[in-house]
Amino acid sequence: MTIPANGSATLRPVGTEHDVDPQHSIGLRDAGFPLAEGACLSGWLQGVRRDPLIDFRSSKELPQEADAVVIGSGATGTLVALELLKSNPHRKVILLEAREFCSGATGRNAGHCRPDIWRGYVKYSQEFGKEQAMKILANEQETYDKLKAYIMENKVDCEAWFGNTLDVMTTDDIVAAAAQNMDAFKDAGGDASGVNVILDPEQAEKISRVKGARAVYGWNAATLYPWKLVAHVAQEALDLGLQLHTWTPVSTVEGVQDSSDWNVKTSRGIIRTPMVVHATNAYAPALLPETKGAIEPVPHMCNRVYPPPAFAGSSALKNSYCIIFPDGNYTVNPRQGGDGLLLVGGTPPNLQHLLDYVAEDPVTRSVDDGLVNFDPVTQSVKRLGGEKGFGWDVNGFGNKAFYDHSWSGIIGESADMLPFIGAVPRKPGQWICAGHNGHGMARIFTCAPGLVKLINGGDWASTGLPECFEVSEGRLLAGRAKVALRLESAY
Ligand SMILES: Cc1cc2nc3c(=O)[nH]c(=O)nc-3n(C[C@H](O)[C@H](O)[C@H](O)COP(=O)(O)OP(=O)(O)OC[C@H]3O[C@@H](n4cnc5c(N)ncnc54)[C@H](O)[C@@H]3O)c2cc1C
Repeated sequence: MTIPANGSATLRPVGTEHDVDPQHSIGLRDAGFPLAEGACLSGWLQGVRRDPLIDFRSSKELPQEADAVVIGSGATGTLVALELLKSNPHRKVILLEAREFCSGATGRNAGHCRPDIWRGYVKYSQEFGKEQAMKILANEQETYDKLKAYIMENKVDCEAWFGNTLDVMTTDDIVAAAAQNMDAFKDAGGDASGVNVILDPEQAEKISRVKGARAVYGWNAATLYPWKLVAHVAQEALDLGLQLHTWTPVSTVEGVQDSSDWNVKTSRGIIRTPMVVHATNAYAPALLPETKGAIEPVPHMCNRVYPPPAFAGSSALKNSYCIIFPDGNYTVNPRQGGDGLLLVGGTPPNLQHLLDYVAEDPVTRSVDDGLVNFDPVTQSVKRLGGEKGFGWDVNGFGNKAFYDHSWSGIIGESADMLPFIGAVPRKPGQWICAGHNGHGMARIFTCAPGLVKLINGGDWASTGLPECFEVSEGRLLAGRAKVALRLESAY
């Protein structure tokens, strides 16, 4: 794992900090299906045990035919299903989920929609050129706006909070790297008026409450209960006629002889359909071997922390965060729309240990979301209470935080940092929207509707998405080649 050397050159884009190096890559090996049993319960899944959607099935028997089969009930699959129905209410749409409803990355993440509206500029422009870099960042702002509008207009009960998120830089090198990114972004015509920059360390410390902060960049973001948001979307789709079937893993998608239809084979029977949408994210390679290497499953942890009294009630944190150290980043969601417990994700320094553990048995462990309380990561999260952090564990200041529980989830890491959206090459009628890295909440609300525009016959321009998101054989091969090269040079 290449935990980014923040500050030495450029900061990586928000949500793509997880860069797996050859030793820890599952590479071109067979990536797995979701665990059939033994998955742990995230905080979100713990909170909805009585919700009927958890094990919902629209009918006792699985239908044998459909106009469209969507595989995966995370944010992507559920939104795709809704958009398919909204754009054509006569469609018979079936949404299949291997396990409980929304129990993949969406039901396990850190609950942050943190659009990258400036930080990733340099890295993206190096990889995809200036125009695409600007489009990627603009897309994140648009996604945030759409997610917010959906929640507000539909009065979605998902404990949403909209406010100021802070990138907290903790060394002068990181401050310099951030300035370089911001300058390049502005030079390219980027509008930075939505980003509030504080370069005075004293002020940065005061505003962020992070001891040792050297600078702070703040902009708009959201935190929410992702499962509840997706459940709302699913209910809307069910009202439009969606058929949802949980606990129905798909084992293969095979062509029907002498027909352009596909047979979707599941544990409960076969569905024949002209249209299949792969919304399986980290698990995409299991059903689509052509995505192997281009999309890789990578486990991550989310830690739940009870803040001490000095950070509770009227003294609770007022922002969300990414606290950037030279050896890793912590994202902090203080659940201001909910119970005020902190959810810590990102790439904390000791994430390396998790990836070392996965590398010992990559095929099995890369999809193992049964892991809880992985101690090296928890130890690293405890650093947030230290002298270069919120400082609450120092000399009894504000009493102690309680490091409660942590759960795992599987990120769908794409080889080029971008999601794969569009028609699966050489498989007419099959579509994909996957590879959202640690950043789906700032992508999916535009990517999923964009995919449905393509399905409905629109051209790429109609999606409004950056061109570099489009899946192509070349892009899949490049991802594969990149991984192969990394593997080769590692040994
Ligand atoms: C610990 C952690 C923290 C994160 N924190 C954040 C964050 O704060 N902000 C952010 O933006 N992003 C975050 N992410 C990333 C984010 O959660 C994902 O990018 C996003 O949820 C992807 O959504 P999805 O619907 O594409 O995939 P998923 O939610 O993973 O959904 C895919 C679904 O497909 C199902 N499936 C797979 N294969 C099959 C099959 N063969 N048959 C039937 N069903 C199948 C799976 O069971 C799963 O439910 C985090 C991820 C993790 C793991």
